[in-house]
Parts: sequence; structure tokens; C-alpha cells
Amino acid sequence: MSSMLDQALTRLDDAARHLTLDQDVLEKLKYPRETTKTRLMIRMDDGSRKSFMAWRCRYDDTRGPTKGGIRFHPEATMDEVETLAFWMTFKCAVMNLPYGGGKGAVQVDPHSLSKSELERLSRAYMQAFSNIIGPDRDIPAPDVYTNAMIMGWMADEYASIMGRVTPAVITGKPIALGGSLGRDDATARGGFYLLRHLEQELGLGPNSRVAIQGFGNAGSHMARLLSGAGYRIVAVSDSRGAIHAPDGIDVDRLLAAKKGDGLMSVAGRRDNITAIASDAIVGIDCDVLVPAALENLIHAGNAATVTAKVVVELANGPVTPEADAILERNGVMVLPDILANAGGVTVSYFEWVQNRQGYYWTVEEIHGRLKSTMEAEGRAVWELARARMISPRSAAYVHALGRLAEAIEAHGTQQFFIT
Ligand code: NAD
Repeated sequence: MSSMLDQALTRLDDAARHLTLDQDVLEKLKYPRETTKTRLMIRMDDGSRKSFMAWRCRYDDTRGPTKGGIRFHPEATMDEVETLAFWMTFKCAVMNLPYGGGKGAVQVDPHSLSKSELERLSRAYMQAFSNIIGPDRDIPAPDVYTNAMIMGWMADEYASIMGRVTPAVITGKPIALGGSLGRDDATARGGFYLLRHLEQELGLGPNSRVAIQGFGNAGSHMARLLSGAGYRIVAVSDSRGAIHAPDGIDVDRLLAAKKGDGLMSVAGRRDNITAIASDAIVGIDCDVLVPAALENLIHAGNAATVTAKVVVELANGPVTPEADAILERNGVMVLPDILANAGGVTVSYFEWVQNRQGYYWTVEEIHGRLKSTMEAEGRAVWELARARMISPRSAAYVHALGRLAEAIEAHGTQQFFIT
């Protein structure tokens, strides 16, 4: 079976067919530039020691310092980290952010750790990778099962190691430590602005029915934003199961349940909310399907069951290449991850800019800048897709690859590794 990165690289080959490129460009983008692997050793609360595998990948830094989140997940692998870093390279280029792509992970179930163990693990990650990470070199951010609190600990650890406060080393920090207003819901908000901007072209509008797979940062904010705009949330899922209510679910209730007894606690006959299996959400009758959990949850085995007209990929890599072909054949429009979920890294970029200038913007400024960036790049991708009669995914890769190629060529023929 081919690796996840091999599968992701098929998108690069596909995009390359639409451009006249120097072979040097493909040679540079085909492989991760540098992946560091280490075991983090921490002291547990009971006095024992435990070790966890950890990685940091800097896939490509042609367009600037590498940027990408850190994931804490029991099934994290090096292949996944490198694939996510590849996607970050293209995502930053789609959005024209002055960054390359990176990613990191620790193979751990963070829910099995106490808060102090989690803090020790987060600090150990920064200790292990502090020579790779830096505000002009590699800038991490949150991802699955990591959050602002963890970013704050890591920023603090970096400051201790370097002997100076360096907020621009990491984004997604608490506001009190130089985080940006509007970073918490930026991923969902970017996807939301994109969807609203293309609403007419996509044949959507208020009262369209939405199913959301995953109810963490990306999924829960998307539910709140879409429902605020009049969309009807008919199904949501998390790792424990899914709920379905054809007439729509009150999102405030869902948010309260997420904080309390869990999403599934709102299911009940009285409210017409049915509990269904977690993976059944893919085939739910709806207009918009929003994958906002993990990779490969829409695959060759379930793609044909998708009834939605539009899939908005808030998750990274939720649709396998085989599933993509099935969706395209069935006329399902996919707004691809490297564009649809780029709101997170875009506001991370705003956070880094604010940290470096030491001057902080209002939330209205953040939202305004995010909206205009999503709309400009979203429109460019959409028009490219129409002009070339290709999918928005292929168009997003072509759009990004054009920028990457220009930068690789601008560095000159002798310069291949920058930092
Ligand atoms: P999160 O940890 O806040 O939430 C993940 C959610 O997925 C949880 O609700 C979890 O229960 C659910 N989940 C896990 N396995 C599932 C399954 N099999 N079926 C249904 N739900 C499942 O993570 P997040 O930050 O919201 O990230 C979600 C996705 O969005 C990831 O692919 C991530 O890479 C991507 N993303 C996040 C950001 C960001 O800024 N947070 C930015 C860009 C992309």
C-alpha cells in the first residue's frame, strides 16, 4: 500500500500537468526537506518515567519559514506528519502567506494525561526541537488535541531556553501571551467566509442543511457560524458517535453538551434527535457536508453515499484521492482543505505579524483582513477551476504550485536549501 505522502503527492503530479515547469521544481517539492524524530521522556505524576515518540517536519521553506501545527494523537505517525507538512506548504502558497510548510506531532493520547503531565510533555517537545523551531525558521501552532494553553507553555519554555521573550515563535497562544484576537475560530471562519462568498455559484443559501463530522475547534465554530447565518445543522459527530435531526439542532445546546456530558447527551426521542453511528454522518441527507475531524474519513468505501452538493474540507485530507474521483463523478463540489481550512494559518500569520511589530489589531481588523484574503484567493481558485475546467482542488494546487515554482526559480539554480 502506498504511503499517505505518496497519495498526497499525486495532487502535485496532477497540478504539474497544468503548468510548464522546470523539473527542478518538482524535484524540490517531491520530498520533505527535513524531518526530526525523537523520544520525549517525561516524569509521570506517580513518579514513573514514560516516553513518547515525537516528530517535527520542515517540508519546504522556499517561500519563508516553515509553519504548521503540532498534533497530539495516539495514532500519529511520521508519514502523517510529513503529509500534513506537505499540505501546509501548498496551503501557505494558496493564501500567498510568506511561509513554507511544516508540522509536528507527539504519539500520545492527551486525554490519558493529567494537566501537569501534559504541561511537562509540551515543554519537553519544545526542549527537544528548540534548535529547529524559531520565529524566522519554523513556527508551530495548535492542531488536533492541542490548544492555546499548550501553545502558551511551549512559548514560555522557548523563552526560558533562549533567555528572551519571543512570542513570534509560536501562534495560537493565549491572548495574555501575545495571541491574536480571532485566532480561536479562524479556521472555521475562513471556511465560512469562503462558503458565503461562493454561495450563489454553489447553489446554497440560508436554510441549506449542513452535516458536520468532528465537533472540536473547527467543527463546533463552523456549526455556530453557519447556524448564525441561517443554515440548518442537521447532523454532527465526534469520536464517540453522531446525532441526526432533520429539522435542525439548536447549536447552543450542542455547545453546552460538548462542555458538559458530551454531544451524544442531546439525543432523545422527545426532541427528535436520533443517535447514529459516527461514520453514518457521511451519507446523511444534507446540502453541505463539513469534514472537521481527521484524514481519510471519506474513502472509496463510503464516498458514493454522499448526498451533499458541497463538501467543505475543514479537516486536512479528509477525502482520499479515490473518494475524490467518486465525488467528482457524482457532481459533488469539494472546497479543498488547502483553501477551505486556511483561515487558521492566515490568522496565525496575522498573530506573527502583530508579535513582530508589537502592535495589536482589533478583532474587526482581523475579521476584515481574513475575509478579504479568503475571498480573493477563493475567487482566484474558483475562476481558475472554471477556466481550465478542473476541480477546485486541482485549481488550488495549480494556483499554489505556480507561486512555489516562481519562488524556487527566483532563488537561482545553485541554491536549493535555504536555511
Ligand atoms: P480538535 O481536537 O479540536 O477536534 C477534533 C474533533 O474530531 C473532536 O471533536 C473529535 O471528537 C473528533 N473526531 C475524532 N475522530 C473522529 C471520528 N472518527 N469521527 C468523527 N469525529 C471524530 O481538532 P481541530 O483543531 O478542530 O482539527 C480538526 C481538523 O481540522 C484536523 O484535520 C486539523 O488538522 C484541521 N485543521 C485545524 C486547524 C486549527 O486551527 N485548529 C487549522 C486547519 C486545519
